[in-house]
Amino acid sequence: MRPRLLRICRHCYRYTLKDRCPTCGRPTEIAHPPRFSPDDRYLELRLKAKLDRRSAHHPVY
Ligand SMILES: [Zn+2]
Repeated sequence: MRPRLLRICRHCYRYTLKDRCPTCGRPTEIAHPPRFSPDDRYLELRLKAKLDRRSAHHPVY
């Protein structure tokens, strides 16, 4: 299980999975910005590495 829904309380900097901080009861925010997508980045790098390997084995002249 991936920590997709990890949240953080900006008040006491406590990480939690709940909508509200168990310490102070304030609403929490999702820890990662929505625009940040590590999966896409890794996929892009994997595809690029695959293409690089293929062109190395079969050079295009
Ligand atoms: Zn808190």
